[in-house]
Amino acid sequence: SGEPARPATGDSTEGSTWDRARSVVPRGVSSGHRVGWKQVFVRASGAYLWDEDGNRYTDYLNAWGPIVLGHGDRRVNEAVLAAVNTCDLTGVGPQRGEYELAEKICEVMPSAQKVAFCTSGTDAAMHAAHLARALTGRLKVLKFHGSYHGWSDHVAVGSSRSDLTPESALNTPNGAGLHPAVVGDVVVVEWNDFDGLRAAFTEHGTELSAAFAEAYVHSFGCVEAAPGFLELLRELCTRDGVVLVFDEIKTGFRAAIGGYQSICGVTPDLTAFGKAVANGYTLAGLAGSDAVMGHLGAYTAERATIDGTYNASPYALAAANKTLEIMETDDVFATLYARGARMREGIRKAVAETGVEAAVTGIGSEWCVYFRRELPTNFREAMQSDGERYARYHASLLAQGVLEPAFPTGDRRLNAATTEEDVEKTLECVRVALQAAAG
Ligand code: PLP
Repeated sequence: SGEPARPATGDSTEGSTWDRARSVVPRGVSSGHRVGWKQVFVRASGAYLWDEDGNRYTDYLNAWGPIVLGHGDRRVNEAVLAAVNTCDLTGVGPQRGEYELAEKICEVMPSAQKVAFCTSGTDAAMHAAHLARALTGRLKVLKFHGSYHGWSDHVAVGSSRSDLTPESALNTPNGAGLHPAVVGDVVVVEWNDFDGLRAAFTEHGTELSAAFAEAYVHSFGCVEAAPGFLELLRELCTRDGVVLVFDEIKTGFRAAIGGYQSICGVTPDLTAFGKAVANGYTLAGLAGSDAVMGHLGAYTAERATIDGTYNASPYALAAANKTLEIMETDDVFATLYARGARMREGIRKAVAETGVEAAVTGIGSEWCVYFRRELPTNFREAMQSDGERYARYHASLLAQGVLEPAFPTGDRRLNAATTEEDVEKTLECVRVALQAAAG
């Protein structure tokens, strides 16, 4: 293309922007997966990012989920500006954007009869845990191995640590500083392990406040529930009075406007959502049945509270209302599904042609390439994806201007500004990268 070669991932060079950042920000960044890249991105538009040297990349990271329409969507930005210029933060009373968005979510999401907003997925999962404990009077929480639900102590177990191996204990805390008593109350089950799930409910069912699940796992790539697994989870939660929480922070407004629950047909009691709802603006929330959400109150010993200066910020609400409107008026999901399907089909074909041992899967706009023969069904299997092959694949894609996650279990996604031509060009790059992976 005549463009300069793009830098690879790895430790950055001296005298760089990274050095300046590192001198004042621990590691130079404020979130884990931003480490390890040489790139410093300074411009984003539609399907593309540009680094500070002017190199263009097609973005299949999309900020780990939020960017669904495309970077810098003008219609969304104008809606945000209009909101800011009309009435910014007041901290008093309901806001029009808030009840309008809640009405819309109740219309499209099966589990939603009431909706409350907060600022991040971590927040949403934390409030879900508080609410479930307040409702049930129980302490324990069940979650699945490898699934990430943010950093609140209630769920920060059995995922995220870069030193986890397929053999690591299920209930390894995600980092230091988490409260051992809270972490000790988390019961971790292998995803798609029917017997393990039944056994966990036999042992702990009546002590569990909540069961958290990504109904379609994205924390270790793309791993669907085995037929009947979500139904079993639903049945056991109902039997033992456990609040079933779907973490739809990645799948909500991405797999479908109503979330993955509108596809799989299993309805949780509570849904945590975030990311794609506002195309990059800071918004997350909880949706649930009247019975569960009705238990949210303020400042009493009996009720759980949702509270925050920036909860339901008018900027984010304006972005979300406009994003959801565009999703419907522009038939965004038809575009996302068509491009995503073509990408998966093209990668599978390239895998077959190059003879590399790899398995490709995904849903809608998202996919994952595992460097192993079979698709994984759980975290341990996903972690057996060949890291060295993946590193070569990733480095080759990056050098060709294709931005994807830097670790072998990373899920990737396109946004609706990605053209058919972008996808075809990426598939050419994938062919080269698979050859590099083969070594
Ligand atoms: N849950 C899932 C499934 C996620 O993927 C993430 C973030 O990647 C979170 C929760 C945490 O969300 P946030 O980063 O907005 O706190």
